[in-house]
Amino acid sequence: MTAQRAPLPQPTPESKPFFDALKQRRLLIQRCEDCAHAYYYPRPFCPACLSDDVKWEEADGKGKLYSFVINHRSAPGFDAPYIIAVVQLDEGPRMMTNLIGIDPDPELVRCEMRVEIVFDDVNDDFTLPRFRPAGD
Ligand SMILES: [Zn+2]
Repeated sequence: MTAQRAPLPQPTPESKPFFDALKQRRLLIQRCEDCAHAYYYPRPFCPACLSDDVKWEEADGKGKLYSFVINHRSAPGFDAPYIIAVVQLDEGPRMMTNLIGIDPDPELVRCEMRVEIVFDDVNDDFTLPRFRPAGD
């Protein structure tokens, strides 16, 4: 990482439980009590049926690489090249994240590859979810 800092999230009342859980090494998603749809990003209603009867649940932090791009331009807090990824969790929701622990080489990174979460402590206040190739 460069000396320049990456922008940090600004938690809202809806997303604060998600960020608080990351500090405790837990990945939370939300699930609708009416239709059982699991989703991310945090919202106070179900994006599938609009019910507001939703709850938090812990995801196991495993999934597969759904899509990715290798970014060759530096951004604040990121040394290029780096991998911007969309991970599909085993519970269903997709998350935009970074794939780490693998060279940003299109010969190595494959869609559908198994990935697992890495809790990245970016500072004392924030832990962010990144993903790496799964060891299993
Ligand atoms: Zn629903």
